Amino acid sequence: MDLSSGYPYFLLKNGLYQKFETLRNDHVTPVVIMGGGISGALMAYQLIKNGIECTVVDKRPIGLGSTSASTSLLQYEIDTPLHKLIKQIGRDEAIEAYKLCGKAIDMLKEIAEEIGFEALKYCNSLYFSHTKSKNEFLKNEFESRNNAGFDVCYLNEEEIFRKHGFHCKEAIYSTKAAKTDAYLFTHFLHKYNQSKNVKIYESTNIKNVRHNKTEIELTTDNSYVIRAKKVIYATGYEAVKQVDKSIIKLMSTYACVSERINNLPDALKETIFWNTDDPYMYFRTDDQRIIIGGRDENYYDPEKREKILYKKTDRLKQDFMKLFPGIEFKIQFSWAGTFGSTKDGLPYIGPYEKKPNSYFALGFGGNGITFSVLAADMITRLIKGDDNAIPKMFSFNR
Ligand SMILES: Cc1cc2nc3c(=O)[nH]c(=O)nc-3n(C[C@H](O)[C@H](O)[C@H](O)COP(=O)(O)OP(=O)(O)OC[C@H]3O[C@@H](n4cnc5c(N)ncnc54)[C@H](O)[C@@H]3O)c2cc1C
Repeated sequence: MDLSSGYPYFLLKNGLYQKFETLRNDHVTPVVIMGGGISGALMAYQLIKNGIECTVVDKRPIGLGSTSASTSLLQYEIDTPLHKLIKQIGRDEAIEAYKLCGKAIDMLKEIAEEIGFEALKYCNSLYFSHTKSKNEFLKNEFESRNNAGFDVCYLNEEEIFRKHGFHCKEAIYSTKAAKTDAYLFTHFLHKYNQSKNVKIYESTNIKNVRHNKTEIELTTDNSYVIRAKKVIYATGYEAVKQVDKSIIKLMSTYACVSERINNLPDALKETIFWNTDDPYMYFRTDDQRIIIGGRDENYYDPEKREKILYKKTDRLKQDFMKLFPGIEFKIQFSWAGTFGSTKDGLPYIGPYEKKPNSYFALGFGGNGITFSVLAADMITRLIKGDDNAIPKMFSFNR
């Protein structure tokens, strides 16, 4: 599957950060993790921390799946607004899903600190609307979050201009969010895991997986065999090849980054922004630059996606300049990626009955990374014997 096109900023910024071996012999391990992106890296981190030996294999160079294309905003807000999720799955579960995502931001921060990764910073988030939203959409959302105990403020036009320096009609300001560099974080995690004896193999494609009763046999392109007691699929959007159930709708998403801009206002640096449009547009800063993303298309077609890449990112730039006409935004790099959404905006985590002794760590959508850390924690607890580790709303049986 073609996961990205163009020039993903964080990949260019960090380059091919470190090299790992390709598997060139048969291998035995208690647990094998297929996929070495942010999900696979966090999964291996949790397993080894809990004394469970594991091996990671990836068919690409490490991090070059969706992780290298990520714009790396960390939010507790799921793509489905809380008041809508409450209607869809019920109040308790919807609030629990939002709270788990909030907890995930703290978990990511703790892990970053433990492994000495500094490029993960807490910030605020602003969810804004250009027009007074229909049916009191933003007010309903504010009330749902406020009632659920989230630290949020409702801002009107004048307050938004005073605090954030741009004009829009209304917004929800949240104190819980963070931004990072998922590609570099993934490499830091693998380096740390390797120092704890996790084996990591890149450019090692698993072409066949046989789920026997007591063990799993994975065969690589070069016909080497990995035998394991358990397999964890951290294969991102390519999991559509491994799950014969329609769990995800694949789409295309776009992003671009500006040249460095002198004197970026602090209000921009301290907050991540996204709007109520459908599809939504979002932006953040990194290293004196502005990264904008959005303008999603409802299809997975890499050729079509690439043809319109520069038109799309020019639109994103115009979207931003309408808000901040005083900031000179010159696009330096543009890219696009495969993206996916589920029916409720929630991930698929845990066992799938058709594949014995296997677990899926599939964080999709705009919260992919927060879901990845939750998946790593939940699957590790399940393997250790906690049968209630996976909440129903994240499971395949929901
Ligand atoms: C443009 C863009 C912007 C985004 N912005 C955000 C954001 O701001 N915040 C956020 O939380 N999320 C964001 N996301 C989503 C986020 O990037 C993903 O959720 C996350 O990177 C998924 O990580 P992963 O490890 O699950 O998947 P991947 O990084 O895709 O890793 C899966 C790996 O599995 C490997 N694999 C697959 N099949 C096999 C096989 N048969 N054998 C061996 N290896 C295999 C692949 O090579 C791949 O490297 C964004 C995504 C895109 C495209």
